Amino acid sequence: MEPMPDAISTDAAEPLVIMGAGLVGSLLALYLARRGHPVQVFERLPDPRQQGLLGGRSINLALSDRGWRGLAGVGVAEDIRQVGIPMYRRVMHDGQGNLTFQPYGQENQAIYSINRGSLNCTLLDLAEKEPQVQITFGQKLMQLDLPGRRLHLQDVASGHEHDVAYERLFGADGAFSAVRAALQRTDRTDYSQQYLEYGYKELTIAAGPAGEWQLEKNALHIWPRGNFLMIALPNLDGSFNATLFFPYEGDKSFAALQTPADVASFFAATFPDAVPLMPQVTEEFFDHPTGSLVTIRCFPWAYRDTVLLLGDAAHAIVPFYGQGMNAGFEDCTVLNQLLEQHGEANWDRVMDEFEHQRKPNTDAMADLALYNFVEMRDRVADPRFLLQKKIEGKISAQYPGQWVPLYSRVTFSPDTSYAEAWAAGQRQEAIMQRLMPHIQVEADYEAPEVQALVNKELSVK
Ligand SMILES: Cc1cc2nc3c(=O)[nH]c(=O)nc-3n(C[C@H](O)[C@H](O)[C@H](O)COP(=O)(O)OP(=O)(O)OC[C@H]3O[C@@H](n4cnc5c(N)ncnc54)[C@H](O)[C@@H]3O)c2cc1C
Repeated sequence: MEPMPDAISTDAAEPLVIMGAGLVGSLLALYLARRGHPVQVFERLPDPRQQGLLGGRSINLALSDRGWRGLAGVGVAEDIRQVGIPMYRRVMHDGQGNLTFQPYGQENQAIYSINRGSLNCTLLDLAEKEPQVQITFGQKLMQLDLPGRRLHLQDVASGHEHDVAYERLFGADGAFSAVRAALQRTDRTDYSQQYLEYGYKELTIAAGPAGEWQLEKNALHIWPRGNFLMIALPNLDGSFNATLFFPYEGDKSFAALQTPADVASFFAATFPDAVPLMPQVTEEFFDHPTGSLVTIRCFPWAYRDTVLLLGDAAHAIVPFYGQGMNAGFEDCTVLNQLLEQHGEANWDRVMDEFEHQRKPNTDAMADLALYNFVEMRDRVADPRFLLQKKIEGKISAQYPGQWVPLYSRVTFSPDTSYAEAWAAGQRQEAIMQRLMPHIQVEADYEAPEVQALVNKELSVK
């Protein structure tokens, strides 16, 4: 018979285990250690601080207010802001290289381009500064015995397999979580995964000869092309990390671009203003892997009061709203709030409230991310859509408390939940659909009949 694990303690000194030292696992380690817990983290990959970041490639993410709040909760937001580049607006590049612009929010509101590798390394450094935190790299979770509370790990370098007992486990092991795989085998666990018929390819827009940015630095660049798009976020060294989101199959697709000549002529025809800034594009297209895009939903996220999923392990989403990591950091904020409220003697309540509070919000975020895919690849190229956004900006300025654009609710309003943001966004979109037939140019907004309609829609007396 297996030896029984030690009796479970319920105080803040209870040792906790986290699976995965990615973005969410390393931030969670900080939160739990600050609460006084000894925290043991296991990570499948080698230590990125020793290996060189992700094979030396720069990959960046957009960090916004929910993420900043998660980082501020352990006092690290300002350190990270120093290495972020604020992006105040979208810059759209059409097929002739003409530019249009769309601010993200009000003046001074920005999302931040942050290097994924350095953010992860900074969080690992900070977590390891806590004497209570121990991170062991190169340890892959192979199996999980939920009732027996035992991890079956493989030391990746030697292949040696060993067991570790835990009292409480947090699964922050990403979209293809091994912790979640064990939960999926328990009774009445729902699970779905939905792939887009699109993949993505990371490419580089080079820095200028003196390390200068060759496109507007403080912006997120978009090349919307109907059923596909390319985006680019700035790096500190003057380069941009570009990502092509592209169908796997079809006329214009990964399948259709088989040779360097195919790639060169496709880019020259499709992204004429970007190509001169992408001297390595053909090599990179074939050297860099094609990533897939998946939405994962599951429930429950907890097993009794002993295991809890967070981050992509619980709710992986497509990247088009730039919210996956932000949502994962918000998980850390919410878990910490619930621990403040109920204390570590009530893990069952904490886990129950966590999954019930977060699930509708991360489901809404998953829908929003899919919705934004269409907006980014297609609608941002439509002058009527850009006019609608300008009119929404005017309504928002005229009725500041009453009308907050959907993007701002999701990105800059961490006190509004994702589900509330999505519901309000849908209500506002319905109003815009009624209003826009009366508006042909920006100045029409001032027309008395349009003002009357807006007043009526917003029930202004
Ligand atoms: C192309 C792209 C662009 C994105 N852009 C943005 C953006 O702009 N803004 C944003 O907020 N989000 C973005 N995201 C989403 C973001 O990357 C994820 O939401 C975030 O990385 C989730 O963090 P995590 O810690 O939950 O998972 P991960 O970052 O995946 O970390 C999981 C960790 O667990 C480890 N692990 C996995 N399996 C095991 C195992 N069996 N045993 C031990 N360890 C294991 C992994 O090695 C990894 O280190 C983007 C995603 C993609 C794909």
